[in-house]
Parts: sequence; C-alpha cells; structure tokens
Amino acid sequence: MKNMLKKYGLLVWLSLFLIAGFVFTTVAGYIVSRDTIQQGISEQTLPITGDNVYSEIQKDILRPVFVSSQMAHDTFVRDWIINGEEEQEKITKYLKEIKLKNKAISSFLISDKSRNYYHADGLLKQIKDGEPRDTWFFRVKNLKSAYETNVDLDLANHDAVTIFVNYRILDYQGQFIGATGIGLTLNTLKHLIDSYQKRFDRQIYFADQKGKVTLTGSNFSKRGDNIQTISGIQSISEKILANRQSESMHLEYQGDNGTVLVNSRYIPELGWHLLVEQEANSGIRPIQNVFLLNLSISAAVTILIMVMVLLTVRRYQKRLEKSASTDSLTNLLNRHAFDFVFQQSLLDAERTRQPMCAILLDIDFFKKVNDKHGHLVGDHVLKEIAAIAKRSLRESDVLCRWGGEEFLILLKNCTLEKATSIAENLRSTIENNDFSRTTDLTRTRLGVTVSMGVAECRSNETEDSVFERADQALYQAKANGRNSVYFSE
Ligand code: GH3
Ligand code: MG
Ligand code: MG
Repeated sequence: MKNMLKKYGLLVWLSLFLIAGFVFTTVAGYIVSRDTIQQGISEQTLPITGDNVYSEIQKDILRPVFVSSQMAHDTFVRDWIINGEEEQEKITKYLKEIKLKNKAISSFLISDKSRNYYHADGLLKQIKDGEPRDTWFFRVKNLKSAYETNVDLDLANHDAVTIFVNYRILDYQGQFIGATGIGLTLNTLKHLIDSYQKRFDRQIYFADQKGKVTLTGSNFSKRGDNIQTISGIQSISEKILANRQSESMHLEYQGDNGTVLVNSRYIPELGWHLLVEQEANSGIRPIQNVFLLNLSISAAVTILIMVMVLLTVRRYQKRLEKSASTDSLTNLLNRHAFDFVFQQSLLDAERTRQPMCAILLDIDFFKKVNDKHGHLVGDHVLKEIAAIAKRSLRESDVLCRWGGEEFLILLKNCTLEKATSIAENLRSTIENNDFSRTTDLTRTRLGVTVSMGVAECRSNETEDSVFERADQALYQAKANGRNSVYFSE
C-alpha cells in the first residue's frame, strides 16, 4: 500500500485535486442557482401571483361597490325614504332593474326609520335589533366609512364567493337614513386560482381572520380547514393572521417534502388572508438534474484523465526502467544491469553445481572501420554483431554490451570446452558475414573479425576475477594476430 502510494502518489493527488475541483465548482454552482431560484420564487413569483389574484379581486369588487354607491346616492332612493316609503312597487321595480342589469344575486334596501327590508320582489321582512342575522345593519349604521363588504360562500353555487356591498344612505344633511347595495358572485376568482394552480404548481387559498380556510382551488391538497391546525402552515399561522397590511409577507415553513415558501397578504375588502405557496424544491428540480449531469460528466472526465495519466506514467516508467538497464544502440543489457544478472547467475550455478562460462568479445581494429567508413557504419556493425551473437546463443545465455566495441557473454550450464566451441562458431560466423549487405552506407564487402577470451567461473570466485581472466585470454588473442578465440585455463 505504501509502495502503491509512492508509485502512484502523483496520480492520487491529481485525482484528489480534480475531484475536489469538480465537486467544489459543481456544488457551488448548484447552491448559487438553487438560492437564486428560491429567492426568485419567494421574492418575485409568489408576490406577483398574489398581486394578480388581488388585482383580479379588486376588479371584481369594484363593480358592486360602484353600483351600490350609485344606489345610495340616487336622489330617487333618498327622496323615496325621506318621503315616507310610499308606493312600495316603485322601489321594488327599481331594485329589480338593478338586480337584472348587474346580474346580481340580490339587491336590497333597508330604511332606518321603518326598519323595512326591501328586495327585488318587494318587502321581505323587518330588521330587528338583537336578531343575529340583522346585526350587520346596525354595524353599517355606525360605520365610519361609506360602505362595507361582506363576503359569503354560497354553498348552493359550488362554493362561489358572494360579496355583499352594504352602502350607507344619507339624507341631504348627512344623516343616516338606511342601507342599500347588491350581492354579486365573484365568478372569476375560483377560475383564476385553478388556472394558477395548474400552471405553476402553486397552492392558492384564502383564510379568514380566524384562520378558517374559506376558498381554495379545486385540487387543494391540505388536510384540515383551519391554518392553525393544518400541519406545517400551523407554525406560521400566527404571523399570517396578525398581518393586517395589504403589503405581502415572505414566510416559509417545513412541509413534508421540504421547505415551502409562502406569500401572505391581507385583503381588507374580503377580510381574508390570501396565501400563495410553493415548494422550494419544485423550481429546482431541473437544476438538480443538471447538477447530477455535471457530476457524472466530471466523474467521467476524472476517470478519463486518470486513465490517460496512468498509461502515460506507466509507459514513461517502463521506458525509464528499460533505458536504465539496456543499451540504446544494440538493445542489449548494459554493464550496470549485467552486474546484477551475473550475481544471480553465479549464485544459481553454485547452488546447482553447474559450470558457467564468460566470453569477452572485442572487435578487431574497430577504429579503422570507423575511420574508413564513418561512425554510422561503425554503429551498424556493432548492432549487427549484437544480432548475430544473439542468434547463435541460447535463450538462457546472457549477452551484454560491455563497453565501446566489447561484448560479454555469459553461458549457463556450459563447460569451458563447450564455451570455446560456441565462441569459435561465433567468431567464424562473424568473419564470414558481409556487413555491407545490411547497410546501404557502403557498397564494397565489409568484413569484420573479432577476438574472444573465454573463462570458466570457479566456485567462490569474484566477478572481477573471472572477467580479469577472460580479459587476459582476450589479450592473448589480440597479441597473437586477432580473429581468434583463447581461453583461460
Ligand atoms: P583492437 O581492439 O583490435 O586492438 O583495435 P581497435 O581499433 O578495436 O581498438 P580500440 O579499442 O582502441 O578502439 C575501439 C574503437 O571503437 C574506438 C572507438 O572510436 C570505437 N567505438 C567505441 N564505441 C563505439 C560506438 O558506439 N560506435 C562506433 N561507431 N564506434 C565506437
Ligand atoms: Mg576495445
Ligand atoms: Mg577493438
């Protein structure tokens, strides 16, 4: 493990850096986009939805208020009350007209003096002090503002929201003489809520001042009918209900699927709180996908880079190892590597009690080859002699470039006699070889001879001593006319 770490340390660090870099940028990117999107939802999308719903409501409410205002300011209406409510059919006709023209569900007039309640079909009843259903009239009587709106859910009409505008009628001195107005269905509201919910994955609903859920879209998914008891929103219900400003508030609570962003505003015309909410996660699903995609791309890139680096490092290492132990010209072992091989072979030979021989080979007058034909031809001769020697040896024998134009051959399990004969064969093969044939650098026959010294390794003999004896034999061969094989006794 320690070794692995040492060998592949660079790789490990590189992967760590890459992974850390990728993870950091991907996660940072994700967090920034997520926050931006969530901020967008809570600060823009939800308030805009709330604004739209609110302005739609105001548009809807404005018309009945306007109609009721005209009724309350109508001199006919005022005179008729002031003059003692004579000829009831006149006011009935008037109320009927108003109801029809405005497609209202009701139109009404109450005189303060007689406490008579008139509607489109005539006199309905008398308003009584203390009667719970009539308390609204006494509230309106003491109202500071000109009118109030009263919202009702009409169960018979598929939960349509009905708004009643109760307008104060004053005489010409400004004294309260009665109340009039119409009841209208806010048709568009429910459609609006439904279309928003379908299109944007948002919940839009209303809660009255006690927290009771008054109006929802068709697919309202909350269990419960009061925001003070519905789990989740419960935690912020107090804040919602305390708000009486029509300014919207950004809130959030923990829902079943994570954070839910809420925009809440009070709608004074209805006396309701408008709540628009959306799961914080719903907007970031697409960027979650992008996040996962980024991570997988990063992982793929990391793996790819790792594989490439690993292959490059390996190839480089192999080349390094090879160049440390081989000679680049002849591709034979170099002297440094040979030392190691020789030590091993010597130990093997001693253990198995098998004879082992060393042959030292030196090219004759090699300087002249260089001088006459040039260095390139010289190099070529070296390469070819290496090839010839390799071909004429066994797989187990070791061939090494000992020095400039000297080679050393180690023959395992081989007697001195056998080694001398192998050397002799090699010598004659080289002598008979035309080195010009394998190179186009020279056209004339190029003959080269070699001299060799053979020595058998004695037990417990040092490396130096064996080579020394082989060298002496070689020296003899050189001294005695070259192109020959001598051995050390
Ligand atoms: P001899 O051994 O028969 O006494 O004569 P020699 O000319 O071979 O003697 P010497 O050892 O003095 O010369 C060896 C020459 O080999 C000298 C050097 O220029 C040449 N030589 C050594 N290494 C290389 C090589 O890698 N390439 C080439 N072309 N020549 C080399
Ligand atoms: Mg030499
Ligand atoms: Mg030589």
